[in-house]
Amino acid sequence: MIVEIDKESGFCFGVVNAIESAERELKENHSLFCLGDIVHNSLEVERLERMGLKTIDHVTLASLKDTKVLLRAHGEPPSTYELALKRNISIVDATCPVVLQLQRRIHKCYVATRSTGTQVVIYGKSGHAEVNGLVGQTEGSAIVVETVNDLQKIDFKKDICLFSQTTKSLDGFKLIVDKIQQEVDKTGVQFKYHDTICRQVANRLPNIKAFASGHDYIYFVAGRKSSNGKMLYEECKKANPNSIFISDADEIIAPLPVGVKSVGVCGATSTPKWLMEQVAEKVRRLNGDR
Ligand code: SF4
Repeated sequence: MIVEIDKESGFCFGVVNAIESAERELKENHSLFCLGDIVHNSLEVERLERMGLKTIDHVTLASLKDTKVLLRAHGEPPSTYELALKRNISIVDATCPVVLQLQRRIHKCYVATRSTGTQVVIYGKSGHAEVNGLVGQTEGSAIVVETVNDLQKIDFKKDICLFSQTTKSLDGFKLIVDKIQQEVDKTGVQFKYHDTICRQVANRLPNIKAFASGHDYIYFVAGRKSSNGKMLYEECKKANPNSIFISDADEIIAPLPVGVKSVGVCGATSTPKWLMEQVAEKVRRLNGDR
């Protein structure tokens, strides 16, 4: 039996950078707060917690003082930096450079157009940490849309400037652009859109489809909280119905059905390589020399 790990799966450079920043700090100080899960993978979080990482939320952050807090790759709104300053909290800023650049673009657009009543619209998941950080660049005024139904939040009599959360799908973005265009064609207002989807994630889609269809059976490994994991797994399942979602090698308890000759192990941008290796190892152990 062939067991192959997808070389393209696993952490994107933004997440690698955040984890390396945490590890560097932990080696020196053995203790570090992290605002939110550093990565949407509980096993990787637990590994770092054993090294001294403590995951906190915004309520806990407000109660801290004179300490150090890591900001993960998703980024944070300006209010978090202001709070840290007030409470003498030093920030280890692991915001992904791609997210940071997007935050700056949105802020620039907001400042340049607010006097004209232009609406900054963000295609993304409402409440998602990255989106909160983006909305914060507009003093909370940006309109977040995730589905076509959400477009009713937009006033089509005012100019529109659209951006995307970095991890959304290109197809979804195109659909939103087309629908807004149809509406603004009726009213004649200005509509500018910026494709700000990170290719680290977007390129995973065609890759995962090709990888999944090239094997008899697929183990897709990701944390249950990962939205990128859910999206990639859906594509995986479409390309190969014999695709199973797991979060841990322990979830594999039985050998594969007779006839399965090749198994692919792949995952999300938040899936650690070591975890995919554990899964591949378990598959080999359970299925012997088939
Ligand atoms: S998906 Fe892209 S933008 Fe998001 S953390 Fe990874 S590299 Fe950065």
